[in-house]
Amino acid sequence: MEKRDYYEVLGVSKSATADEIKKAYRKLAIQYHPDKNPDNPEAEEKFKEAAEAYEVLSNPEKRQRYDQFGHQGLGGNGGFGGGGMNMEDIFAQFGDIFGGGGFSSFFGGGGGGRRTKKGTNLRVKLKLNLQEISNGVEKKIKVKRHVVAPGVTFKSCSTCQGTGQVKKVVNTMLGQMVSASTCAVCGGSGQIVDKKPAEADSRGLIVKEEVITINIPGGVAEGMQLSMSGKGNEIPGGIPGDLLIVIEEIEDKNLQRDGNNVVYDLYISFIEAALGASIEVPTIDGRVKIKIDPGTQSGKMLRLKGKGIKDINGYSRGDQLIMVNVWTPTQLSKEERQALEGMRDSVNFQPDPGKSEKSFFDKMKEFF
Ligand SMILES: [Zn+2]
Repeated sequence: MEKRDYYEVLGVSKSATADEIKKAYRKLAIQYHPDKNPDNPEAEEKFKEAAEAYEVLSNPEKRQRYDQFGHQGLGGNGGFGGGGMNMEDIFAQFGDIFGGGGFSSFFGGGGGGRRTKKGTNLRVKLKLNLQEISNGVEKKIKVKRHVVAPGVTFKSCSTCQGTGQVKKVVNTMLGQMVSASTCAVCGGSGQIVDKKPAEADSRGLIVKEEVITINIPGGVAEGMQLSMSGKGNEIPGGIPGDLLIVIEEIEDKNLQRDGNNVVYDLYISFIEAALGASIEVPTIDGRVKIKIDPGTQSGKMLRLKGKGIKDINGYSRGDQLIMVNVWTPTQLSKEERQALEGMRDSVNFQPDPGKSEKSFFDKMKEFF
């Protein structure tokens, strides 16, 4: 059969833009999709032909060679060897052309049995403290996975002749209709277990405990899910599922997370507030000394720059915010009471919030 011109295949002009080419391919791929045209070799041919044309015309370098030299420029048969593209390649390469929406299921899920089977995902919860969250951490976790047992051999499924699909012909008023469904014997893989060790189940799988090392990046948050592809359950004749790691934050007894910042409530005495002090506070990286200026008011916020949590998308770090609270004594000895009574009317002890004392809301605006 004479190879058709790729532009003709997609029904676009030689000057078509990348976008026009993509749109044209998308339309044809939907029209001739095998799920929509079961048992239609002609549609399958058209589907493959369109994918091949798109593969070349969507690649600027290949398109240029094709424009100059035609099919010969791509190595005879469009660079696809004798048989053109196979279905697996097409789904693997162009499945994402349909993006989200209704078409991902069209390509990704549902019947057909043509796509590579994937094992199920494993999900584990991982508890991390604030320090681990901030700096990132390497963790070793134990998982129990289904893996193909050593020594298992497979043979082609006789029920579906290795196609993974069984076809049923149903007589209806409109004539004979053919329906295809996933083979129940092999589960769509087209293979069944031939020989297996005694401990393996009917699918040739055993449960194996494995220690998996994972690198958690700094800046993760509660509920975030990290994925390690291929570390989930294996499936005969398919690719393994993924290992999903769900992050749980262990609450810190001192520091509260607020985005990439951490907030610390500091309590100082009335004396320290009046006279000034040097005080140790906990941070993610250990304790640090901070200076409290003489005359510090309750409600003042101090900032330790870069002492917060690492940003997951970059190298910057948040800050630690210190809320200063002045602790009022709740009980006094006779001597203490007398000493304070003596200062009750002192002019320095009268509240005098001037313009320089920002309101709580102004401070919040400034800090967050
Ligand atoms: Zn089968």
